[in-house]
Amino acid sequence: MAVGCVTHSYIQKINAGLEADAKIAVNPRTLEILEPTGVTEKMLALGMPMRGVRFSQRSKPAREILFKGQVRHKYPFLLALSQATTERLLAEAFEKAGDRIERRIELIACRNEGES
Ligand SMILES: Cc1cc2nc3c(=O)[nH]c(=O)nc-3n(C[C@H](O)[C@H](O)[C@H](O)COP(=O)(O)OP(=O)(O)OC[C@H]3O[C@@H](n4cnc5c(N)ncnc54)[C@H](O)[C@@H]3O)c2cc1C
Repeated sequence: MAVGCVTHSYIQKINAGLEADAKIAVNPRTLEILEPTGVTEKMLALGMPMRGVRFSQRSKPAREILFKGQVRHKYPFLLALSQATTERLLAEAFEKAGDRIERRIELIACRNEGES
C-alpha cells in the first residue's frame, strides 16, 4: 500500500524551536543508526562514554551499575553529550544532505494521498 502524507497548511507557532536542554546521553543504538550520516564519529569525538552509573543517597552507601559485561553492543556505553551539541550535529548533517530545517511553524493538517 502506498502511503503519502502532505502538509496542507502551516501557521506560525509562537513557542516552536529548540526544546530545553534536558537530554544528556546518546544511546548505543542511536550511535549505530547514525553511523552512515557521519554524525556518530563526531559525537564520539565530542562526547564522554559513561561506563556505568552510581546512585547515591544521603546517609546510605552508594550503589553502582557497571555496563561492562551487561551491554553487549559495539558501543557498550551511554555517550554523555549535551542536547545542544546533538541538535547542532544533526542539523549540520541534515543541511549538508541538502535539506532545510524550518522552525516556528506548525503542521495543522495532513492528508493521506496513498492508494490502498
Ligand atoms: C527530561 C527528559 C530527558 C531525556 N533525556 C534523554 C537522553 O538523555 N537521551 C535520549 O536518548 N533520550 C532522552 N529523552 C527521550 C527523548 O527526549 C525522546 O525519546 C525523543 O525526544 C523523541 O523524539 P521525537 O522526535 O519522537 O519527539 P520529540 O522530541 O517530542 O519531537 C517532536 C517535535 O514535534 C513538534 N511538534 C508537535 N506537533 C507539531 C505540529 N503540529 N507542528 C509542528 N511541530 C510539532 C514538537 O514541538 C517537538 O519539537 C529524554 C526525555 C525527557 C522528557
